[in-house]
Amino acid sequence: MGTPEQNSNYRRIAFIILIIPFLFLLFLSWRCTCSYRGNIDERVFPARWKNKVSHEMEDELSSTRTVNKFTCQTPNAWLPHASQGSGSGHGRKWPNGIVPYKLHCSLTFDDRLQVQKAFEEYHSKTCIKFKPWDENDQSFISIEVDNRVCGKANVCKNGGYQFVKFGRNCRNTATMIHQLGHALCLGHEHQRSDRDNFLNVKRCYIRKDGPMAKLYAEEPKRLYDYASQMHFKCGSCPFGNPTKPNVTKCGRQITQGLSVLDADHINALYDCQGCFRHRWLPIEYLTDQDFKDMYNFGYNSRTGSPLYPCRAQIHGEIAIGKYQKVDKTCYIPSLGKETKLQTNVEVLLIPGGLNQFGKIYQLVKKYEMGISPFLVPGGRQADQVGLGLFYIAFGRLKNMYGEMEGTIGKYSLENDKVFFPLGGGEQGSEDFSLLTCRKE
Ligand SMILES: [Zn+2]
Repeated sequence: MGTPEQNSNYRRIAFIILIIPFLFLLFLSWRCTCSYRGNIDERVFPARWKNKVSHEMEDELSSTRTVNKFTCQTPNAWLPHASQGSGSGHGRKWPNGIVPYKLHCSLTFDDRLQVQKAFEEYHSKTCIKFKPWDENDQSFISIEVDNRVCGKANVCKNGGYQFVKFGRNCRNTATMIHQLGHALCLGHEHQRSDRDNFLNVKRCYIRKDGPMAKLYAEEPKRLYDYASQMHFKCGSCPFGNPTKPNVTKCGRQITQGLSVLDADHINALYDCQGCFRHRWLPIEYLTDQDFKDMYNFGYNSRTGSPLYPCRAQIHGEIAIGKYQKVDKTCYIPSLGKETKLQTNVEVLLIPGGLNQFGKIYQLVKKYEMGISPFLVPGGRQADQVGLGLFYIAFGRLKNMYGEMEGTIGKYSLENDKVFFPLGGGEQGSEDFSLLTCRKE
């Protein structure tokens, strides 16, 4: 028998000896869950895919010139291709836009916050719904940290397990939004076959199968979107320089969120309804049915022909103007002028009518507008000006003949300013209405 002091020391030592293996087992079990889940892709995907992936990755990492430049390591082989006819992928979309997800244990608390913000971005701008996985979900995305890549994701719905990864210094909302875009079937904007009209990459070394290769043709040709979260940054090689005036930045250099055109693209791809059912369609593709889905809300030109909202890329912004069916022309207000365009123009359609299950598209007088109605966005400012959106405005203004004439233009909530195309110029107004959708 020792002294009471010695006894207490023995007890302490025994306690430490017992607790160490316990802590070790705890650590091991945590490691095992993580590494097991992280390795699932290697068990599920065929060996030939695996080879392709590791080859691509080694290639990327071995070239010191390009290391850390690319924000996404999703291989070209996974992305939509020209042979598939669309940059949006055919089939393999998530039914009803519902995407079950699992959060992998490699995610820290902050990673989870970034993922949550990315989900919210989709939930507020599209009808896509990310929901926690349950036993009834056969297909799901596993959101994981992988520090070998900046970002990487399986493209479209593949069936069963598939991953969405971010890593290194890219564990942020923008990367997660981009990778979730791939999971939803989106390709890269800068890999559109028509991108040479928008990016000058002539002096850049572009590998045929590299991340800047041209992959697919967009049919119908939606507007090229420098601000897309699916666009790599630009302004230097190998990404190329924007060729349109007033455009200096691309993708996340402009915004960390979904651009207005991203949201429209996803809402069309997933046939979203309710207040996400409006569509923008290139004028070259308008059918007779489409004209029935166009609404002029009683606004006509001087000669009485109906006017519809249209939009185009001009001076670095996506500007909204008026489309006249008779001359197939979109009149765009920008930089003090009215520009007439007949190509690269989209018009607004509201399929399903103005009232669908209590989701009503209507014009609301600016000064009668209550608290936060759902304003329908259509465009955005140039990147040097700000991140503000343009909303669709309808007005009646006095023309050069002294008559009241209908017109459609762009409203900036940020600056509280409206710009209408009229008689060759651009005009403001105090009395106008905005297109809203009321959710009831
Ligand atoms: Zn990508």
